[in-house]
Order: sequence, then structure tokens, then C-alpha cells
Amino acid sequence: MAVLVGNWKMYKTLDQAEAFIDQIAPIAKESGNKIMLAVPYTAIKTLVERAKGTNIVIGAQNMNDASEGAFTGEVAALMLKDVGAEFVLLGHSERRQLFGETNAFINRKVHRALESGIMPLLCVGETYEERQGNQTEEVLKTQLTECLAGCDAKSLMVAYEPIWAIGTGLAATPQMAAEAMKVCRTFVGDTVPLLYGGSVNSENAKSFLENKEINGLLIGSASLTADSFAKIISLK
Ligand code: PEP
Repeated sequence: MAVLVGNWKMYKTLDQAEAFIDQIAPIAKESGNKIMLAVPYTAIKTLVERAKGTNIVIGAQNMNDASEGAFTGEVAALMLKDVGAEFVLLGHSERRQLFGETNAFINRKVHRALESGIMPLLCVGETYEERQGNQTEEVLKTQLTECLAGCDAKSLMVAYEPIWAIGTGLAATPQMAAEAMKVCRTFVGDTVPLLYGGSVNSENAKSFLENKEINGLLIGSASLTADSFAKIISLK
């Protein structure tokens, strides 16, 4: 059984989101895989209701580290819990690169998510330059050490997402992903799912899932259309 997580980013109105769930639900049921969707805040509550009785798990794409407060535009972990989100992406490279999120900030979010009963899906990964400079292992170790400092690293998931592979059409090889998983595994318990993300599509998904180090996939653009996501979640 693989863990297959869609990341919708800043896409889909409520109508579009609901139509997607209706289309995917029967396929998800048959698939035998664990299906999760990280959706926009605006869709969480509606989709949690809509996905009841299916095996689709709904989560969020971000949250703030504070419990509550004067942080205009931010969303707290307990608010996510309140509307039924079961997991949250933390440290996605778009958050790190476009919004300046640091490992220390992400670490505080991981703590907050865990204490609020929401499973963090921590994203880590190197830039193209870092890979070219043979720094991948070191970068991953630093991100994992700093993002997981003081955490019980058992009740979470980790996604290895090389930044050069996200949204570029240039996926890592399963071998590269498996090597990164070995580094990640030394930081988390045996049961923590380790996912690969970065230009996964219905053509290359199987090659990753065939590797026993890789427990699942984090899928961006190929999770946006029900047809391509259905092909991926149907893989055995
Ligand atoms: C992502 O956003 O986490 C991602 C992996 O995107 P894509 O699949 O589009 O590369």
C-alpha cells in the first residue's frame, strides 16, 4: 500500500474541488492505496464532509506556528483541526523560497501540528546547485535536524522533494530518490512513510513505487485533473 498525496496548491474553486472528489472517490476505494489531498483552506470543511465514507483524507498546505493571535491572514493548527483537516504540508519549497520560511520556523510548526493532533508532512529537498555541488546529503541532514529538533519523529510523514524537480517536468530518478530516502530514514522511525515528490505523473509514478525505499508520492500538477490522479492512485 502506497501513500499518495495530492498537493493542489492555489488551484480549484469549491465547485471544482467537489466535482473532483466525486469523480475520484470510487477509484480511491478500489485502489488499496492511502489517498490524501492537501487542498486550499477554503475547501477543507466542504471536502471533509464530501469525502466522508470514502478513503480520501483531507489536509491543508500550510499553517502558522502560533496557537492564535494578531497574525492577519494566518491560520492556526486548531482551526485546521476544527474543520477536519487530518494532516498539513510543512516546509514545502514554495513556502521556503517564495515566503522565506526557515527551518526554525518550520520546526515550530511541526511542534504545533503534533500537539494539535494534525499529522505533519514535512518537505525537504536540495536546489539544483546543491546537487551539482554534491551537497544533497548535507542539505537534507541539516533540514531534517533543524526541522525535527525536539520532535517525536514517529507521528509524521516526510517528503523528499528536490527543488529542481518541482513543477519542471524533470523528475529525479528512482535511484536518486531512494538514496535520499536512506538519509531521511535515519532521522525518523521505521514506520514513518517517506514520499518522493517532483514532476511525478501517470507515466513515471510506477517506477518510484517499485522501489522499496519509497513508500509513496507527493504529487502536484498531476493531482489537479481527476483523470491523471486516477491513473496514479490505481497503480498496484
Ligand atoms: C509539489 O508541489 O509538491 C510537487 C511535487 O509539484 P509537481 O508534482 O507539479 O512537481
